[in-house]
Amino acid sequence: MHELLKSLGIAQLNHGTSTGLKSWSSGDTVIDSFSPVDAELIAQVYQTTQEDYELVLSKAQNAATEWRNIPAPKRGEIVRQMGEAFRKHKDNLGKLVSYEMGKSLQEGLGEVQEIIDICDFAVGLSRQLYGLTMHSERPSHRMYEQWHPLGIVGIISAFNFPVAVWSWNAMLAWVCGNVCIWKPSEKTPLTAIACQHIISEVLRQNHLPEGLSSIITGKAQVGDWLVSDKRVALISATGSTRMGRAVGTKVAERFGKCLLELGGNNAIIITENADLNIAIPAVVFGAVGTAGQRCTSTRRLIIHDSIYQQVKERLVKAYAQLRIGNPLDAHNHVGPLIDKDAVKAYLSAVVQVVEQGGKMLIDAEVLEGAGFESECYVRPCIAEAKPDFAIVQHETFAPILYLLSYSTIDEAIAIQNNVPQGLSSAIFTLNLREAEQFLSANGSDCGIANVNIGTSGAEIGGAFGGEKETGGGRESGSDAWKSYMRRQTNTINYGISLPLAQGIKFDF
Ligand code: NAD
Repeated sequence: MHELLKSLGIAQLNHGTSTGLKSWSSGDTVIDSFSPVDAELIAQVYQTTQEDYELVLSKAQNAATEWRNIPAPKRGEIVRQMGEAFRKHKDNLGKLVSYEMGKSLQEGLGEVQEIIDICDFAVGLSRQLYGLTMHSERPSHRMYEQWHPLGIVGIISAFNFPVAVWSWNAMLAWVCGNVCIWKPSEKTPLTAIACQHIISEVLRQNHLPEGLSSIITGKAQVGDWLVSDKRVALISATGSTRMGRAVGTKVAERFGKCLLELGGNNAIIITENADLNIAIPAVVFGAVGTAGQRCTSTRRLIIHDSIYQQVKERLVKAYAQLRIGNPLDAHNHVGPLIDKDAVKAYLSAVVQVVEQGGKMLIDAEVLEGAGFESECYVRPCIAEAKPDFAIVQHETFAPILYLLSYSTIDEAIAIQNNVPQGLSSAIFTLNLREAEQFLSANGSDCGIANVNIGTSGAEIGGAFGGEKETGGGRESGSDAWKSYMRRQTNTINYGISLPLAQGIKFDF
């Protein structure tokens, strides 16, 4: 691990503030980064002070003026080089993601692959920041729209996708002509610092301004400096609904722009026409993958009552085969939760579902003994429940799956929609009518709706995000780039008179 950390520029004690070309710390409060894999203290990071923050802001303001004057395709070339740098560091960064966050090595590497993919996407996008042209109602007039950079983009990210979510925002924001200030989760600061080192190499080689890519570290308070700062044009915040409510309100008060990616409570409907050979693995991966700590993890399973018993038996059988253990060992399916607070939330949810009338099919358990010293490894569990239980309406960030039953497709869709969150949803059916109804305006109310694919795991090419308490933001592919730019409508009169719109006469 020592060699790996060294290769990513991580020391035992690290500066938590960086403008891309310089890193420093003026305070003495440190954040410890413990691995949930084995409870080892990986390294420490100095928290950003308010004085550090002010310096970061002024450097970002200067960099924004310079960067927005560089043509977009040239900005794309810088992002292309960043993608190359991440390719070079993929193995080591992927391993660090896995060790610091606790997800499997495959998923850690997958996160870095997402960074590389979004870089490729952003490079193409840098030549496609298209605006429309419209026909003017006035003679000898031309009307069109163009997209300009916003300025400073603040990125607040969650622990569960410690690097990929930042890249979805930052790579797009950069080709759109913005500069970025990143406040990573206090639970995963090292992976963020490693990314900043990788980016810094490219910034130096290209003599780019200090402040194009900055990082500040700390808890909610440090995020709040960004959120309350009217010099920060856009806040893109990923995390819990609780955080989003606080952030969204503050940004709205100052008329800033906000992109919120918050909690989900994702469901899969299994109809009597489903191919169970693909449905069961999709449910198991969705519910236990990343130890249930994906925003798109499957939390509710809505099963047609004619096959309820059969699905239940197959799931119990599949869960019995799960191997829980060190996520760096490819042999294991389920790694640890992020920390002991997450374990408490898992245990509390299980108590609540039973109190509310549910029945455990597979009991909760915190694993002990050799290999489980961090006390963060839990057994994925299954409970039979009712859709309206308070705990079923709530996102518990842990591998707990609630089984619900239905008798008509309308009822199944109503259960799926009847939660406060609206991120990811799926139906397993071979029946065209059921599938199309699920995807129609009368179907799923989520930002993501899949057929014969589970809820978890999205491709970067589509716009990612959800409705209702999930926050309404869209990131990554499609036209999500528009969130990082401001639209300007331009009308040009090349004639010799001044006709007014709507035929208004104003003679004098
Ligand atoms: P969290 O809300 O505890 O923290 C997320 C980030 O917000 C952290 O960096 C934290 O320091 C910061 N923060 C918290 N309160 C803040 C405040 N008042 N002002 C400014 N910053 C603040 O979330 P978490 O536990 O790290 O992540 C898990 C949650 O994130 C889950 O709810 C999950 O569904 C959600 N999530 C959503 C998506 C998505 O795309 N919809 C993706 C990943 C995670």
